Amino acid sequence: MSALSVVVHDGVAVVTFDLPGEPVNKFSKAVIAEFVTAFDQIERDASVKGAVLISGKSDTFIAGADIDQFLEFTSAADATRESAAGHTLMSRLEEGRVPWVAAINGACLGGGLEASLACAYRIVGDSPKTVLALPEVQLGLIPGAGGTQRLPRTVGLQVALDMILTGKNVRAKKALQTGLVDEMVHPNILRDVAIARAKDLGAGKIARKRAHSTGAKGALLENNPVGRAVVFRQAREMTMKKSRGHYPALLAALDAVAAGYHGTVADGFATEARLFGEMAFTAVSKQLIFLFYATTSLKKDLGVSGDAPPPAPVGKIGVLGTGFMGAGIAAVSAMQGVPVRFKDTKHAAVAKGLGAVRDVLKDRLTKKQITRHQFEDQLSLVSGTVDYTGFSNVPLLIEAVFEDLAVKHAVVRDAESVLPPGAIFATNTSTIPIHRVAEASRDPSRVVGMHFFSPVHKMPLLEVIVTPRTAPGVIATTVAFGRKLGKTVIVVNDAPGFYVNRILAPYINEAGKLLDDGVRIEAIDKAMLDYGFPVGPVTLLDEVGLDVAGKSGAIMASAFGDRLQPSATLGKVIATGRLGRKGKKGFYLYDERGKKGGVDESVYAATPAGSSRIEMSAAEIQERLSLAMVNEAVRCVEEGILRAPRDGDIGAVFGIGFPPFRGGPLRVVDTIGAAALVARLEALNARFPGRFEPAGLLREMANKNGTFYPTTGKPV
Ligand code: NAD
Repeated sequence: MSALSVVVHDGVAVVTFDLPGEPVNKFSKAVIAEFVTAFDQIERDASVKGAVLISGKSDTFIAGADIDQFLEFTSAADATRESAAGHTLMSRLEEGRVPWVAAINGACLGGGLEASLACAYRIVGDSPKTVLALPEVQLGLIPGAGGTQRLPRTVGLQVALDMILTGKNVRAKKALQTGLVDEMVHPNILRDVAIARAKDLGAGKIARKRAHSTGAKGALLENNPVGRAVVFRQAREMTMKKSRGHYPALLAALDAVAAGYHGTVADGFATEARLFGEMAFTAVSKQLIFLFYATTSLKKDLGVSGDAPPPAPVGKIGVLGTGFMGAGIAAVSAMQGVPVRFKDTKHAAVAKGLGAVRDVLKDRLTKKQITRHQFEDQLSLVSGTVDYTGFSNVPLLIEAVFEDLAVKHAVVRDAESVLPPGAIFATNTSTIPIHRVAEASRDPSRVVGMHFFSPVHKMPLLEVIVTPRTAPGVIATTVAFGRKLGKTVIVVNDAPGFYVNRILAPYINEAGKLLDDGVRIEAIDKAMLDYGFPVGPVTLLDEVGLDVAGKSGAIMASAFGDRLQPSATLGKVIATGRLGRKGKKGFYLYDERGKKGGVDESVYAATPAGSSRIEMSAAEIQERLSLAMVNEAVRCVEEGILRAPRDGDIGAVFGIGFPPFRGGPLRVVDTIGAAALVARLEALNARFPGRFEPAGLLREMANKNGTFYPTTGKPV
């Protein structure tokens, strides 16, 4: 079956890319061979004066390279050769006999954008589905088909670096404004306009531009070597600061772009190919590519092993509790066009909740992520109430009331008396076992946990927690709805802390034990930032709220005994009345508006070590905190809390910000090796008895030389 069809009419060849049996178009060796054939055919046909590249898919132009092919590279040199082959292909678009027009509607990513950049003219369909990006750095790679060379020459150095170093999506309108594309039209006329432009190009009515021969383009600062040096230096400094040196592809991308400015065009392409090859064999790209496969496989998983009824449609939801979490849940639901019936006990609370929903949506409007029309539409989807009117046709209810079992039981009973038969009751509890909440239900098979993270509209993860009684259809519907809200969903079994808070507990406790011993707050936070977490553990405590952390620490301690005892420091600091950021007093100082300042030195008086501080190396801090978390993640696999190691890694990366370049805690086990890890844990356990006892499964894996993931081929 062929991916390309070529139709020549009136001097224009229209090449339609429509990969059979796939939702999106991707470049693979087979597709590239087809392109070569199409180019040959078009070049030979003297009647053809211009050509159009268009997609046969409704949502995608070209999504980039087929990632499966990256797994087949045998060496860096092999990957470099593939990149050079990509250059040859793209240069045929740019340098061939006939000028090409890229007619772009939907996602135009990676190799798709690189192909477009090699065309003489680019038109985008004015649709929310149209996004253009070079996302290679998100896989630990750099653009390998000319992107680091043609993009800066098309949009200027600063815009190009911003795109290449972040991989971010650029929408149609922005693409037009920055000069990334030449024209924007309604998708319905995209094809016709593209054909007309190809004719004009062929007839010389539009000048044929070649990005890589037009020389440097951009703002004044970039057009002289001194100004460019400043731009590169600033970009390098910013990159190092943000990535802490953990993402080599960022620096490689900068080097590739710089090579195109400092040397000849050929030097630029050669450097790009060489660095693409090198990056394809870094440990970082291996982990980021794993995360890509893991999230892709998770998207197809409804969280049910064996047969399950298909997910039921959820056209409306009820949310109980219009507080912090309830408002976040209502807002993300409205963003997806799902109406929300929003209930609290008092009118003032409902008004406050509606105000909070409005704030979230307003923020999107201010950032131009939605139009005013969409803002009004979404806001109108949330209606408030203090009774149960409007709940009789709600297929899914999510409760976010006070964290109190008696209150939860009361709302289960009240809600079930009005909900339609078969409705799902989801609880957003963070610490109460789901089966305990279900005790008040007439039908526990309809009760499930939906553990959102705060702030709900920003945090990508949703933990769906199931009890042995939760019906498979309920799980599938809940997972599908969570995904509709834009969340990455993992399904975990009901146990104290579920998964994310369970692995967080020993990590936070260990940070507290370091404080008990007299280690400085900033030393702990800095060590873990350097390890790759987005915030340090002590800052995290302040963010979560010390009271909340104290309560959940106590629950974990009563469930797991000595192993998960909170630090003495936490209890003592809570006793001083400090609440963290929300009380503007915690381990750190906060100003009137809640902005974080330095460490509050007076907090040390409440720690067991008092004002005497000890020095500890970052390496030791990292060893204790990270391995405490890793060992606990292994226990969650062992105890069947996780359905697969994949979910444990995704949950840690998306729920806690576990460093993506490490792949996740279970990937860390495979990286270190089970036997070596057991030895390191035993050494820690000898010093801190009980806290680092290696998980049984880890010992088993060490004996059998086992790993969580396959060592060759697809990682998941
Ligand atoms: P919150 O105090 O901001 O909001 C709770 C709301 O529930 C209040 O507005 C209260 O008036 C309302 N309420 C109490 N009883 C009610 C009833 N019978 N019917 C309707 N409304 C009622 O609390 P929150 O931070 O939004 O937490 C809500 C739930 O979410 C808790 O179970 C909590 O453990 C969980 N959770 C919180 C977080 C977090 O970071 N705050 C994260 C995950 C889960």
